[in-house]
Amino acid sequence: MVWFAGLFGLVLAAQAITTNDVGYLRLTFYNNGEGDGSGKTGQQDWSEVQVNDMVASAQAWANILGNTAGRMVDVHCFWTNFSGSILGGASSPYVGNYVNAQTYTEYVWRNGVNYTRPGGSYADCTITYDMDAAGFAWNFGSDAPTGSEIDFRSVVTHEIGHAVGFTSTYISSTDKWWLGGITAWDSWLRDDAGNAPLANSTGTPGNFTQVDDPIWFTGPNAFAANGGANVPVYAPTTYAAGSSLTHLNESSYPSTLMTPGVGLGEMVRTISAVEEGVLLDLGWNVIPEPATLSLCVLLLGGGLAARRIRRAVRAPPPPRA
Ligand SMILES: [Zn+2]
Repeated sequence: MVWFAGLFGLVLAAQAITTNDVGYLRLTFYNNGEGDGSGKTGQQDWSEVQVNDMVASAQAWANILGNTAGRMVDVHCFWTNFSGSILGGASSPYVGNYVNAQTYTEYVWRNGVNYTRPGGSYADCTITYDMDAAGFAWNFGSDAPTGSEIDFRSVVTHEIGHAVGFTSTYISSTDKWWLGGITAWDSWLRDDAGNAPLANSTGTPGNFTQVDDPIWFTGPNAFAANGGANVPVYAPTTYAAGSSLTHLNESSYPSTLMTPGVGLGEMVRTISAVEEGVLLDLGWNVIPEPATLSLCVLLLGGGLAARRIRRAVRAPPPPRA
């Protein structure tokens, strides 16, 4: 019996938690059965190639975002078994002052605050991926995906994009923005009638139409990068929890990082000029990349955390009404 106990110990040692620092992002990988204290537990080990994919995707953001963080941003990474077409999700708690809100990631990195998380907050950002790629197959590594694969690096890069600001505190169950504040992203959203988000409100001056298909991101840098036009934001006529209000419009940008879906064989690991404009409008110092760089939202109760979900769509994406 002692011998078996020893063997068990060896197995645990081989699954030690791995941490990689990429710029200001501190990625911690939780293997099968390992938890971070939040109640979340990994359901599958991280392979070396998967860790390398995470690092490469985090590097894409570290290369382009020039702000000096107040401390390292803690990103916890898990494999799990999502149902349906969900490929991955990112969640980051919000800190707000009843007017404006930031994810912890934004607060620490963009605002440069050395923030001590309140008790019960185990990470600045938690990213979780579906073990079976929503019933398809993941493409791991630097090579391009085949036509029957979902590109892991594309999904990872997308999820980190939510943590750095492609996110809304809108709560569909109450049709209000979080009482703690609206995000920088929210502050630039307008519906067709010109209504804007407002903390603890349905909108100002009137009730914001979150199903305007699309709504508009009106930040001046994104406007300029989009050829002198406001940027359409995904807001289908049937509200899509986890996707509405937090992505660029899929039909307007069929192959762009921050759209709600990714197709089989689609590889988007780079941040587009329009997305760089968005980042500038969010208050980031954006470092232009000479070459290439190498990513959904279901608000949970109370607006305290946003869960972002990337869904698989078959290639080519189906036409939308
Ligand atoms: Zn997303």
